[in-house]
Amino acid sequence: MKYSELAELYERLDSTTKRLEKTYHLSEFLRKASADEIGAVILMVQGRVFPSFDERELGVANQHLIKAISSASGTPTATVEKEWAKTGDLGKVAELLVKWKKQSTLAAAELTVKKVFDNLRKLTELSGQGSVDRKLQLIAELLSSAKGQEARYVVRTILGQLRVGTGAGILRDAIAWAYFPKAVEKVFVNCSSCHKIIPPADNCVECGKELSKEAKKAAVTSAAEGEESAREEYNIILGKIQQAYDLTNDFGVVAKKAKTEGIKGLENVEIKAGTPIKVMLALKAETVEEALETAGRPAQCEYKYDGFRLECHRDKDKIWLYTRRLENVTNQFPDVVECLKKHVKGDNYIMDAEAVGFDPKTQKYVPFQNISQRIKRKYDIEKTAEELPVEVNVFDVLSYEGKSFIKEPFKKRRELIERIVSSTKRKIVVSKAITADKEPEIERFFKQAKADGTEGLMIKKLDAPYQPGARVGYMLKFKKVMENLDLAVVAAEWGEGKRAKWLSSYYLACNSEGKLLEIGKVSTGLKEKREEGLSFDEVTELLRPLIAEQQGRYVKVKPKIVLEVAYEEIQKSPTYESGYALRFPRIIRNRSEEKGVDDINTLEDVERLYKTQKKMKA
Ligand code: AMP
Repeated sequence: MKYSELAELYERLDSTTKRLEKTYHLSEFLRKASADEIGAVILMVQGRVFPSFDERELGVANQHLIKAISSASGTPTATVEKEWAKTGDLGKVAELLVKWKKQSTLAAAELTVKKVFDNLRKLTELSGQGSVDRKLQLIAELLSSAKGQEARYVVRTILGQLRVGTGAGILRDAIAWAYFPKAVEKVFVNCSSCHKIIPPADNCVECGKELSKEAKKAAVTSAAEGEESAREEYNIILGKIQQAYDLTNDFGVVAKKAKTEGIKGLENVEIKAGTPIKVMLALKAETVEEALETAGRPAQCEYKYDGFRLECHRDKDKIWLYTRRLENVTNQFPDVVECLKKHVKGDNYIMDAEAVGFDPKTQKYVPFQNISQRIKRKYDIEKTAEELPVEVNVFDVLSYEGKSFIKEPFKKRRELIERIVSSTKRKIVVSKAITADKEPEIERFFKQAKADGTEGLMIKKLDAPYQPGARVGYMLKFKKVMENLDLAVVAAEWGEGKRAKWLSSYYLACNSEGKLLEIGKVSTGLKEKREEGLSFDEVTELLRPLIAEQQGRYVKVKPKIVLEVAYEEIQKSPTYESGYALRFPRIIRNRSEEKGVDDINTLEDVERLYKTQKKMKA
């Protein structure tokens, strides 16, 4: 494929901010690329020659480019610099100077996408003596063959400044539009002017003319009444493309699979050691009960280490380490590389882990902030590794000896980790875990986890697959930063609308030497129907006989009912007599059976929690 065609696409992408238009132009272009070219084309469209997780850099400074432009255009460097000072854009400078030159020389060989891609990749392979000159030659060679517009984009790509606005969403959609036209056309419309099948919009993305009323109407009906099955089919395709991307993190690989093997190809994308996979994410649970509701009983409960995610890959002697954002940090952690080689059986694997810092003197875990500087460190790496050592806590395995395990149930994956990792304290260990189905046992384990300096627990579904990139309920974090408070209801308010028959918000108080001091008002956490749990109706029935005074919707009640309340934070507040207020309070349960007003939390408790919270934030 000619580079001029790609440059033309850049121009089109650059000329619009509209997502549909960008997607359309990109998809039309992708259709033209052959299976062999597609990988390079997709990377180049993103202004790169390696996928984002690849740490290789072109390493070309402005000064190098100035020399290359000068040599390719036969212009003195001083002139290049002067032009650069005028526009501040070396891409435009290259375009201008190359154009001048072209007018006076015969056309050189036409640039191809492959040639540009290969030359740019070669730049990363050069180092040491003479490498700068060799790099200049490679760039000058491209610029000598480039026409003005092409030169502009070559330079911008080298500088990492292409920015034509092709984000992940656009690439994903463009792949669908390019390679699954039958499914996509069902949700598209026919342009009344140029008769192209186009995405529904006010104006045609191809010819720019306004769509006829009929076409617009067709678009609206298909979107609204749904051509539901067509929409569904389209969404399934997008989902499959996304899934394949989550496993490979390279739209080039995904597009090639889609083009050559269709849906089946996308479904069969393989994971491979060395290529990072989007990590599975956790949901949050407020209570152990809530976590178990989602994860099922029994569930696996693990320490939640306060470190950073580390995806560990090995293929023979090569090890790669990726962060949660898939940045390659292998060079920053030579200690972890060694540790993996020494304490994990196997030549080829991908494991998911959390690296946690510890104090080399006390051997106690330290919070993430203490070691975060290791992630970006470029110098004194060995020294920093000694001062800020980490322990790798392995909690999942995604592939082993070439076989993918992501579709296997978690229980099986966990068994595999236990077989292959020889736990060695403060080097590498299998995450500490129990399998349990009762709240009290899990609560005890939670306390132990906190006492051991971790953040709390991760509660995991035993039969779940590994779902890359998704925040599904396969693992839930349970941190319970603040302990719940048991508080007395001292007043309430009748609800409005469909809640008018209930007392639906409650004023809560803590105890201060026998005096009840208000600390907040709560109206969430209760259910509308009795069968779903503690309901507004039940609490209203409990409070009704206790009503002492009524002013409009507001009622004062004799303090008797004790509610357990969770919240995000305690704040100082002049609104309530206690001097504190609860942020986002939520009723957890009725504790009146076990606790009387004398047993509720005290102002002292509240002050203590307020201080702990402040310390934790510091
Ligand atoms: P959060 O960052 O608060 O959303 O919590 C999820 C993070 O906890 C994960 O991304 C991991 O980095 C970390 N984590 C710590 N221990 C574990 C564990 N045992 N299993 C899974 N993730 C863990």
